[in-house]
Amino acid sequence: MINSDNIEQLDRQDPLATYRNDFHLPSGLVYLNGNSLGAMPLKAVVRARQVVEKEWAEGLIGSMNTAGWFDLPVSLGNKIANLVGADPGEVVLTDSTGIDLYKVLSAALQLKPQRRVVVMEGSNFPTNNYMVEGLLEQLGDGYGIRYAEAGELVQAIDDDVAAVCLTHVHYKTGGILDMARITALAHAAGAAAVWDLCHSVGTMPVELNTCGVDFAVGCTYKYLNGGPGSPAMLFAAKRHHGRCRQPLTGWFGHAAPFDFDPHYHPAPDIRQMLSGTQPIVSLSIAEIGIDLMLSANLGYIRDKAMKLTSLFIEGVEALGRGNELVLVSPRIAEHRGSQVSFQHDNGYAIVRALHDRGVICDYREPGIMRFGFAPLYNSYADILHAAEILGEILKSGCWADTCYQYRETVT
Ligand SMILES: *Cc1c(COP(=O)(O)O)cnc(C)c1O
Repeated sequence: MINSDNIEQLDRQDPLATYRNDFHLPSGLVYLNGNSLGAMPLKAVVRARQVVEKEWAEGLIGSMNTAGWFDLPVSLGNKIANLVGADPGEVVLTDSTGIDLYKVLSAALQLKPQRRVVVMEGSNFPTNNYMVEGLLEQLGDGYGIRYAEAGELVQAIDDDVAAVCLTHVHYKTGGILDMARITALAHAAGAAAVWDLCHSVGTMPVELNTCGVDFAVGCTYKYLNGGPGSPAMLFAAKRHHGRCRQPLTGWFGHAAPFDFDPHYHPAPDIRQMLSGTQPIVSLSIAEIGIDLMLSANLGYIRDKAMKLTSLFIEGVEALGRGNELVLVSPRIAEHRGSQVSFQHDNGYAIVRALHDRGVICDYREPGIMRFGFAPLYNSYADILHAAEILGEILKSGCWADTCYQYRETVT
């Protein structure tokens, strides 16, 4: 049973407890939205000042060489490689998740030039669908998406499939797909496996190479706390380097960008995945969150994520109003990422009422309230508090106030 005594004890015994001090957490808020935008590590401010006031203001263009700017996408990629079971030289940090997905899927399709089908879960993050729709439209020539949900994947992956393109942890439900098993299924059918790690990188150990994954992408502004709009990670297994090409062939992906060769020749390594001049300020700040994550033990993070999510479900259901809510996330902790989603017909109004009472979570259609748990800075006390506030809102029915019926642009 969840109560203030055992919650205090859990916080005291938490091996990750001190990480909370490395973040700026506005007072009076319980922030359960690290699955959308991670909190700000305190050292990000120091790094931001350094990159702007010293490296840019004083160093000017020379910082490309002297401050390591040119190498940032690869040097940070090598750091992230440690979080996702990749080798050095297999990951870069660049562009957005959607753009990176476009790049890697283009490359993956070249591995199977006779095949025309991409298998995706239609219910997942729409930008992935949009990007793949756009790419396949561009390719024409009979290319198409075969949408299949988690339970239908085995059936859907046959020998027409060029690539399976899935999200490891579902953005709405938090359900985990079995990366090892589905990648093996794809390979057995002769298809490439492309994974989106937006909701898994930084929340659990990920083993891209052990699973034999071909390509992967993922956000750094969610659980890696890289800052708003920080560049995404892109993984390409070494065996594919030089064997297929991404289509946005800009000078940063050229074998020798500073030769100013009038014709494109791809870099033989992971740099081929780059396109143009990189957002240095954003990359520099992202390194702070990545370093923090690297210093933590991913096993502890996963363990705490399972406990936090389980206690939240238990807390909400124990407070007597749980029956008004439908749990959309898997009930078994091992099947669930670092978030809990509950559905309610008036989910959006309830989320607004939660915000008003200092509990920050978000909303996704239809009626889904998402609570994201960041093991580095969320405490067990946060969970109890959020569950109690949610219970009070449901009990009082205050969400029905007219002030909560107005729809914001970003939900
Ligand atoms: C957050 C998220 C994205 C975001 O993509 P951007 O290109 O960075 O806007 C994409 N896919 C999934 C699964 C996500 O959760």
